[in-house]
Amino acid sequence: MSDRYDVAILGGGPGGYVAAIRAGQLGLKTAVIEKAKVGGTCLHVGCIPTKVLLESAEVLLLARRAGEFGVRVSEASLDLKAAMDRKDRVVKKNFMGTESLLKKNKVVTIKGEGRLKAKDRIEVTDPAGLKSEISAGAVVLATGSRVGSLPMAPVDGRIVLSSDDILSLDRVPESLLVIGAGAVGVEFASIYHSFGSKVILVEREPRLVPLEDAEISEALQRAFARQGMEILVGASIQGVRVEGDQAWTEVLVQGQVQRYHTERVLMAAGRKPNIEGIGLEGLGVAVERGFVRVNEMMETNVPGVYAIGDIVPGPALAHVASHEGMVAVEKIAGLKPHPVNYQAIPNCTYCHPQIANVGMTEAQARASGRAVKVGKFPFIANPRAGILGQGDGFVKTVSDATGGEILGVHIIGVLATEQIAESVVARHFEATALELAEVVHAHPTLAEATMEAMFATDGRAIHF
Ligand code: FAD
Repeated sequence: MSDRYDVAILGGGPGGYVAAIRAGQLGLKTAVIEKAKVGGTCLHVGCIPTKVLLESAEVLLLARRAGEFGVRVSEASLDLKAAMDRKDRVVKKNFMGTESLLKKNKVVTIKGEGRLKAKDRIEVTDPAGLKSEISAGAVVLATGSRVGSLPMAPVDGRIVLSSDDILSLDRVPESLLVIGAGAVGVEFASIYHSFGSKVILVEREPRLVPLEDAEISEALQRAFARQGMEILVGASIQGVRVEGDQAWTEVLVQGQVQRYHTERVLMAAGRKPNIEGIGLEGLGVAVERGFVRVNEMMETNVPGVYAIGDIVPGPALAHVASHEGMVAVEKIAGLKPHPVNYQAIPNCTYCHPQIANVGMTEAQARASGRAVKVGKFPFIANPRAGILGQGDGFVKTVSDATGGEILGVHIIGVLATEQIAESVVARHFEATALELAEVVHAHPTLAEATMEAMFATDGRAIHF
């Protein structure tokens, strides 16, 4: 006899464990099947550990500038082991918190690798290889993603590293070539550059962070170059050869092949959804371009089988996975949840300087055929940024010239990843630029820069 649940969730990342907690809150008998550790990519090798290391990098940079603030410190330097230990402690604390939240909500966590046998049955292979089966009224697939690779630059975990590998180095490499300047690539470039590596950042597209607004890419490229990173854009990797403890990377730049000799290479060129071996084919679950197809309630073409997170189309982000998980289980519980609003998703990258956006870039807004107004406000004119000693960067807003609706907001600069929140709320509620501008903002705060950028769409910025 197999155990019977109302809902079984395959994978305990930020999609799966949040879905499980919400299901528990709704009184559903819930199981989450996890082959490694609940928390998934995000907690163990993604969002959390990278941000802990970025914080060490920030503290190091700030400590080196302490004199500017009238604070004397003896020479600041990195203790990599202590930084890594702190990262492990923060991850462990969050892991324990996640486990106890699952227990508190009466979710049964089953350790093992799951595979759909039927739309209401999952076979689980435990770490000792023993097989068992559970059955469930509904199933949520949340198996996430794994590191991708390029055939000409195979990851060996020693010299050519994945984002998982580079999170636990015991020594700062003298030189690091980073392949891919998306969010993961630029965050590690910032971490290891601040830690003392000579960083070479290679991007195939003509600009860094190619999904961002073009002005944000340009500003980030200028900032990275000023910091001393070597940037190669519009550059394609021809091959990586490992020789002893070093790598030789051939890069095609402006029609010429150049060779770079570095101690380590980081492969940060994308991730792959985990859709193989989980029983999709047997059940006829529709897959398109490598992602599971779902409707706005996150249900696949097989009734009662749902999918969320990195295995479905849309932004591969932890908060998106979590919201999709809540929608799926609320639907399973018979509620009428609002679908996820994909027009108002914050995208945050915690490199130095930070960048964040919501909605359309200026180019996307113009391509949509609308008349567009742009408002910009630089942090140099924001008193709080001055107090923090971080006046670089700006807020850029893109709004509809006719109705005033906020179409997109793009920020580069100090705590951009926190600052974006109010613009996400505004976009979610379809506010206009002037409606947000007319909300009274506290002084002195960084948020005033967003208010001023909104006023700037109407030529009304006060301090610039
Ligand atoms: P995952 O987190 O990948 O979890 C899937 C889980 O399923 C895993 O625990 C896995 O072990 C388990 N699993 C897989 N197959 C099976 C099976 N057959 N049986 C049982 N268990 C299984 N996103 C952000 O929003 N903010 C960030 O700052 C951020 N930083 C990142 C930094 C890095 C370096 C990386 C790599 C990613 C980052 N992301 C960030 C992306 C984020 O981690 C993912 O979008 C998020 O983890 C996806 O959640 P998920 O639940 O879909 O999958």
